[in-house]
Amino acid sequence: MPSISINIKSGTLQNKDYILGIDLGTTNSLVAVMDGDQAEPKALKGKGQHVIVPSLIHFGPEGQVIVGEAAKPFIVDHPERTVYSVKRLMGKSYGDLGSHSDYFGYKIIDEQDDSLVKIKIDDRFYTPIELSSLILKELKNRAEQELGGSVSKAVITVPAYFNDAQRQATRDAGKLAGLEVLRIVNEPTAASLAYGLGLDREQDHHVAVYDLGGGTFDVSILRISNGIFEVLSTHGDTYLGGDDFDRAVVEHWLGQIPQGVELSNSETQALRLKAEEAKKALSKADLSESSLEIQGQQYHFSLSKAEFNQLIAPILQRTLDACARALKDSELKLEEIDSAVLVGGSTRSEAVKEAVAGFFKHSELNDSLNPDEVVALGAAIEADILAGNRKDILLLDVTPLSLGIETLGGLMDTIIPRNSKVPNRVGKEYTTSVDGQVNMKISVYQGERELVSENRKLAEFTLQGIPAMPAGMPKIQVNFMLNADGILQVQATELRSGVKQHIEVKPQYGLTDEEVERMLLDSITHAESDVKTRMVVEAKTEAEQILYVTERFIAKNKNLLSDQEIQSTSLLLNDLKNSLESNDKDIILGHIDELNEYTRPFAERLMDRSVSEALKGKSIDS
Ligand code: ADP
Ligand code: MG
Repeated sequence: MPSISINIKSGTLQNKDYILGIDLGTTNSLVAVMDGDQAEPKALKGKGQHVIVPSLIHFGPEGQVIVGEAAKPFIVDHPERTVYSVKRLMGKSYGDLGSHSDYFGYKIIDEQDDSLVKIKIDDRFYTPIELSSLILKELKNRAEQELGGSVSKAVITVPAYFNDAQRQATRDAGKLAGLEVLRIVNEPTAASLAYGLGLDREQDHHVAVYDLGGGTFDVSILRISNGIFEVLSTHGDTYLGGDDFDRAVVEHWLGQIPQGVELSNSETQALRLKAEEAKKALSKADLSESSLEIQGQQYHFSLSKAEFNQLIAPILQRTLDACARALKDSELKLEEIDSAVLVGGSTRSEAVKEAVAGFFKHSELNDSLNPDEVVALGAAIEADILAGNRKDILLLDVTPLSLGIETLGGLMDTIIPRNSKVPNRVGKEYTTSVDGQVNMKISVYQGERELVSENRKLAEFTLQGIPAMPAGMPKIQVNFMLNADGILQVQATELRSGVKQHIEVKPQYGLTDEEVERMLLDSITHAESDVKTRMVVEAKTEAEQILYVTERFIAKNKNLLSDQEIQSTSLLLNDLKNSLESNDKDIILGHIDELNEYTRPFAERLMDRSVSEALKGKSIDS
């Protein structure tokens, strides 16, 4: 039940516990909320003029912070104090940025390659989390102005390809802005929700979400069944978007001014803005006219829709190539895509709409909502579901990469397989491999390869204080709890003693989307050699355990064996030890069998003696 509260400042009665739906975008951000009576989501503008807040932060010399539209002019005048595209930096290390680091007009600190990036403005360092929190604060303020009370809860969207470091960073930014982030939701999931896709049917519904924003493009194929949103595949280009349309127009116009006329920095920027205006105008009109003074001379620039369409054709083709790849990865046929959804401001251009409709020609095209609002609107619906106002819908997402721990021999033991639904909780039991072992290291990995060294380490901790017991006796329960945002908690408990250790996995730095893709591809191309390696490692591990147990047995029970037996056993032990070098599973297993065969009667002898001693009423020494 939503609680009733009074806003002390305004004295008004607030009978609704609002949960905000926030689209924290690379270029633009906005906030939406379920509009009480209408049961329809609505984007909010507070005291701003538009619902859209450009994702820009300007730091004035006196420490003023300007967020949104008002920060726009400073990109030209003070690029070093004006931060844009901070979303690209979330959860990233400098190493992750690679060749893209010169894309940014502000200073990104290069400390160590794997530490998280920081941005330097004057003498202060800012993390992308702090910077994003400034945008979120602005959105929160707007919502509070319009709703007339304080708001503290939100759902925030992220691209489907965001890994857990990037999701965690987004969640932290929310916390820093004074928001309790109830859930991190995939943008394509939110967009599908805004159109109410797939919710009213039992059978699978397949949706292609085409999102062309300012500087990024992605396409995701979703399967929706019984309220579960599964991202089957996602492709795209994190440096492709409407900005490229603007650039193509600028190039076209520059070709029209006489050679030798050099544009100043601010003239170039002004021309870029004119190009964007022309592009937007052409979403409605067939011709756009504008003029600009360059080096003291007035120039006239016109652009027809046909010219524009021709200019952007190669860019559009790249997005369609990505659609084809996403479709292939989803293992669906074109006819099986029921709906296509247009997301992102750039899909307002007619040529984009036509290209998408032409590609997904069997699908119903969803373009009736504002493409730049649709993600926030969907997030508001998700918020409403979380508030318990729509009991019929259950929302789940899935995890993109497998999660597991390292076991003997450096093998990956998967606990939560990729594409599992979240939230999820899985437990598995392990034991010790050495007598009297009191500590056990738990190393958590993410990835699809059989060897942990090929996967990505997320965290490591040690379960301490296991009571000393013979190898194999302790029962160590490892639980993985993946919450709805894809954030992992790991718990290890020794069940006999109750010793417990717990960790929240907060990875130090993120994977790029290319890396996630590469990890998935690698696991396919290496599948065969991985299985072979795993079998060798398993054979070696088994051999090492048998060597250990047998050596200990001989040392303890010499009196049960003849000299001849002791000598033969030690020869077999040596053979087995030497076979480990061979890296051949069949040779190793052969020697294990030989040793087992030979020593089996010893164990029987020990049992017999134990039984007869027990019968004599003596206690047994184990
Ligand atoms: P993001 O999700 O990356 O934050 P948006 O979805 O808000 O970005 O898209 C921003 C892009 O949409 C910009 O390149 C902007 O020029 C473009 N855009 C906005 N309105 C229009 C329009 N009417 N016609 C064409 N492009 C538009
Ligand atoms: Mg967007």
